[in-house]
Formats: sequence, structure tokens, C-alpha cells
Amino acid sequence: MEREIVMPHAAAKILKTLNVGGYEAYIVGGCVRDALLGREAGDWDITTSAKPEQVKALFTHTFDTGIAHGTVTVVMEDGNNYEVTTYRTETTYSDCRHPDDVIFTASLEEDLKRRDFTMNAIAYHPKEGFRDYFGGREDIDRQVIRGVGDPSQRFQEDALRMLRALRFSVQLGFSIEKKTADALKENVSLIQKISAERIRMELEKMLLGDFPEKMPFLWESGLLGALFPQWAQTLQEHGNTFIDQLSLCSRRPAVRWAAALQWIGEAGAKAVFRALKFDLATEKEALLLLRLGPSVIPAQKVFLRKLIGQIGPETAMEVLRMQSILTQQDLRNQMEMVTEILADGDCCSLRELAVDGKVLLSVGIPGGEEMGKILKKLLALVQEEPAMNERDTLLEAVKRYQEGEEI
Ligand code: ATP
Ligand code: MG
Repeated sequence: MEREIVMPHAAAKILKTLNVGGYEAYIVGGCVRDALLGREAGDWDITTSAKPEQVKALFTHTFDTGIAHGTVTVVMEDGNNYEVTTYRTETTYSDCRHPDDVIFTASLEEDLKRRDFTMNAIAYHPKEGFRDYFGGREDIDRQVIRGVGDPSQRFQEDALRMLRALRFSVQLGFSIEKKTADALKENVSLIQKISAERIRMELEKMLLGDFPEKMPFLWESGLLGALFPQWAQTLQEHGNTFIDQLSLCSRRPAVRWAAALQWIGEAGAKAVFRALKFDLATEKEALLLLRLGPSVIPAQKVFLRKLIGQIGPETAMEVLRMQSILTQQDLRNQMEMVTEILADGDCCSLRELAVDGKVLLSVGIPGGEEMGKILKKLLALVQEEPAMNERDTLLEAVKRYQEGEEI
């Protein structure tokens, strides 16, 4: 029985407008795949025989996104943007990533032929049904990722497709079909031509995927080794442990990266972050997790208040979670304590201290180093004893300090 796809009203309207204008139009790619899988589709992409200028003439609100690649973004009343791309076929790829030329075509089949995997090369129209020239639906049913055409040639055209194959495998739980997997293994070294940003993005999607058990092919195929030999070596060795841990880890990118990099040491991890041009926030959090992950975290509130003060409540909780996963310790006690500390509003950092620099200035403490020293002592005091975090109590302690006593 032919399946149906329920698409947003606005997407159906775009198809209709294009058809009335005399052009062919279909939804295509990821959205058709996801709809067939019962997954929520990200973007509803449209492919059409209309040229970009012709698309623009049919809609009131459009903007040029990748006009050189034939893509026009149509803004619809539902507030969503839809990418409408002219059928195109691709020519040669001298750099293993970008087609040298973009050539428009009148043939949907040609357009589908340039797409990476059979499951991504299905077009659909509500009246005409599916246009599925490469057995995409059958591959979806069998949960296989298969290259369109000669997989080796397709990976040589655009090496990013190798990472995409793996990423889809880990996201969807699909296997990579033998011929496609063999072609991937033959071409792993081409991955070096792909930009750091794209590699990072695909790896991160993989690390966050629902089927970590599909990940070993990343290092077993040699793909990761072609980029980071040392890192791949550690996963070759500890892969099984890593996969078990991943299913327990929070879905925070920094946590997943830290888990993946736990065996190459801090310098090794830093080298990976640099090579992949990480944003500082994720890098910082991942490094913290790597550093604190294997350390001992005592079940003492004062220790935990200090930890929260240093790295913030969210990361502190992640450290505990991560550590309990990596070292298989029972840290439920500590996690409960963190929850209590936050619920009680205990002062953990200078921001929450009942006195600040201004107050101290007003009682005659000079600014600068001395002030910093006193604030630190006061913080340590309330981290020990949260009830002390009252303005008057703290000012009394300051007064005694001015008279020569320790805080
Ligand atoms: P998702 O958006 O969930 O990551 P997707 O399949 O929609 O998955 P996109 O990158 O949004 O992936 O690309 C949309 C479509 O464009 C794909 O389904 C595929 O048909 C085609 N495509 C994308 N990247 C490539 C590529 N590198 N080579 C060939 N075709 C590609
Ligand atoms: Mg998409």
C-alpha cells in the first residue's frame, strides 16, 4: 500500500503554487525520509523544475539564500521558511567537497541522482505519490544506508558524505550497506579535505545520536584514524566501555565530547578541540569534566558549595553525573546534596555573598588586593556555614579582622 505523507499546510501550498505556475515541485530529502520513519522532520525542503527567478516571481516574500546553488527561501504565513531548490545535476568535484559547477536540469531523476543516499533521494507529491528511483523506501524499511550510484565515486566527489553515512547510522540505528561501507573504508583519507567546522558538526551529531552501538564503525573503518590517529587508537581499545557509558551520559555536547576524549589526556583533548575549532564555552566545560571527572568528590556540602562556586551549578551536576558513569561510583548522596544546596539558596560564589566591594569600601577597606583577599575569606566562611551570609554578621567578622583577628 502506498504510504502518505502529512506535510505542513504551507509546504503543500508552495507545491500547488509552483504547479499552477506550470512547474513540477516535490518535497524531497530529509523530510521525506523522516516522515516515512515517523520522526519529526527538521526542514521541509522543496525541489522544483522552476529556475530561481521563476520561483521568486511566484511568491511575495522570498530571499536569496544560495541562489548560486539554485536555492530560494520562501517565507510563508505560518512563519516558517522553506528552501525551494531548482533541480540540478552536479559536475566534477576537484576538491572532494564542492561541485565545480552547478548545472540546472529539467529532470527530477537527475536531481535525485546527485543526492547522497537512497533514503535521502526520495521525492513526494500529495497527488503523484513517491518518486523513488533508487529503492529508497525499501532501504528505509530494511534500515540500510546505501549510496546512490557508485558509492566510491560519490565519496570521492564529496568526502563529507562518509561522515554523513556514519552520522545517519548513529542517529537512525541503520546499518551501512556492505558496498557503501567498503567504499567508505577505501576512501577514508579523503576526509582530511573537509573543513573543521563540518567535521565537528557531524561528529557532534553522532555523539548525540540515539544509537551509540553503531559508532564503532567510526574508528573501525579508519575514518577517525585518518583525522586523529591517537584518539582513534584509544577508542579502538576502549570502544565498548565508551559505548556503554554514552547511553548513560546527559545529552550535553560537552559531556559527550569529554566522554569520547577521556583516554587521550588533557593535551590530546586540547589538540582535538583546536583542530576542530571548538567554541570556547564547550571546550571549557569539556576540559573541566575531563579534569574533574576522575577525581574524588567527597560527600561534604562545603566541598560541593565550593565546586558550584567555581564551575556553576549545571556543570557541577554534570561533573557528578559524569563521574558516576566513568568511575561507576555511587554519587547519589552528593547529587542530593547539590540539589539541597540549590534549593536552600546557599551562597556558593561571590555573586551571592551578602556584602560586596562597595559595602567593604564604606567600612574603610581599601580597594585592590586587600579587598579581594577579604572577599575570598568571607566567601570561604559562608561556604562552611551558610547561616553566616548576613550583611551584619559578615561586617562584624570584617571588623574583628581589622582589629587583628583572623576571619
Ligand atoms: P538532517 O537535516 O536531518 O541532518 P538531511 O537529510 O535533511 O538531514 P541536509 O544536510 O539538510 O540533510 O540536506 C538535505 C538533503 O540534501 C539531503 O537529504 C540529501 O538529499 C541532500 N544532501 C545534503 N548533503 C549532501 C551531500 N553532501 N551530498 C549529496 N547530497 C546531499
Ligand atoms: Mg535537513
